[in-house]
Amino acid sequence: MITSKTRLVGLLGHPVQHSQSPIMHNAAFAEKQLNFAYAAFDVEPDRLADAIAGIRALGLRGVNVTIPHKVAIMPLLDEIDPLAKRIGAVNTVVNDNGRLIGYNTDGMGYVRSLVEETKLDVQKQVVTLLGAGGAARAVAFTLAEQGVKEIRIINRSRDRAALLAEHLGEIVPTSVVEPGDASSAIADATLLINTTSIGMFPHVDEIPVPVEWLHPGLIVSDLIYNPLETKLLKQARLIGAKPHSGVGMFVNQGALAFELWTGEPAPSETMRNIVLQQLQKTN
Ligand code: NAP
Repeated sequence: MITSKTRLVGLLGHPVQHSQSPIMHNAAFAEKQLNFAYAAFDVEPDRLADAIAGIRALGLRGVNVTIPHKVAIMPLLDEIDPLAKRIGAVNTVVNDNGRLIGYNTDGMGYVRSLVEETKLDVQKQVVTLLGAGGAARAVAFTLAEQGVKEIRIINRSRDRAALLAEHLGEIVPTSVVEPGDASSAIADATLLINTTSIGMFPHVDEIPVPVEWLHPGLIVSDLIYNPLETKLLKQARLIGAKPHSGVGMFVNQGALAFELWTGEPAPSETMRNIVLQQLQKTN
């Protein structure tokens, strides 16, 4: 029940009506019997500064931030956590007695889920990354900081891949894969990660690389979670590679935000179950 003591958190994005975050976080608060409530706020890009002033004026405990505000919010905050600064995007804000601090929990959410679900040793991974957008940056910088051996980037726009490679190269050996070399960049990799939107609902018959390029020695990870099993993951499973879906990243980025706002361990199982339930309804 919402009372005068309820602490409010929420999501700033545009659009937000399909987000699973409100249902996931409200289930988590209920499970832990915390007097918090989570709402989704559809904020037009030119009203973002007003929305941030609103967080301060209304005393919200924090927010999640999604497309298109993850980069634009940064100069409006009082402090940015070093990993979020490296990634160049914020997905979680904590209001610490009026001081707004920006974090990025996407990358750690991804790595936490990858390790939990596949039991891989992060430091032994040779990673081939498909894509160089916002999610790719979060995942790649976090993997680099966790000590993977090497990262290779395959991306449609070479310039974007080159910029990411330049920044990542300060932490880990990184290369941009030329179009003709893509299959060999996967042949001796141990972890293939799709961070593009290829294969996402409703384009479920699309696959970002030819099936013939996959091999049983790979962990194949897809950041997409709608559908739960993309065509890429299905093909990976069929040839004996180990699939890893994006749902764990979504749950864990939320779990880490929950922990930042409440100071309590998140009930990750409850969060995962409710998200799976919702996604199964729409699949
Ligand atoms: P983004 O910044 O727009 O980046 C999109 C990336 O996909 C870019 O590298 C883009 O290449 C590439 N791409 C898109 N369409 C393509 C096509 N038709 N052919 C080749 N490349 C294409 O988006 P984002 O925020 O990083 O999100 C990317 C994906 O990750 C989405 O599917 C999103 O749902 C998923 N995601 C999942 C989670 C989670 O919690 N599981 C969190 C965040 C994002 P160019 O550089 O050439 O444009």
